Amino acid sequence: MDTESLKNLGWLLVWGALFFVMMRYGCGAHMMGRHSKRQKHHNSASNGETKDPVCGMSLSPAKAAAASALKGNTYYFCSTSCRDKFEKAPGAYITVAHETH
Ligand SMILES: [Zn+2]
Repeated sequence: MDTESLKNLGWLLVWGALFFVMMRYGCGAHMMGRHSKRQKHHNSASNGETKDPVCGMSLSPAKAAAASALKGNTYYFCSTSCRDKFEKAPGAYITVAHETH
């Protein structure tokens, strides 16, 4: 009897964890936080256009000369030199984790 209910509890935890992951990284993530904070980025991405965070040039991912993945986001650059600058100090071009200002 007890082992049976423990098993059920285990499954509940597994599903709970799955749900949590979905909310965090799936479409649930769009509803939470992201929308208000990164609206500018979100809008430009929906056009198929993105922005080089280093020089501010707008470009489409297909035409980008370089790309860099950081914290689950992909950033595109007009040139590899822009990417190098970005990878050396991403905090200077994008807001990473906590904002200080
Ligand atoms: Zn650039």
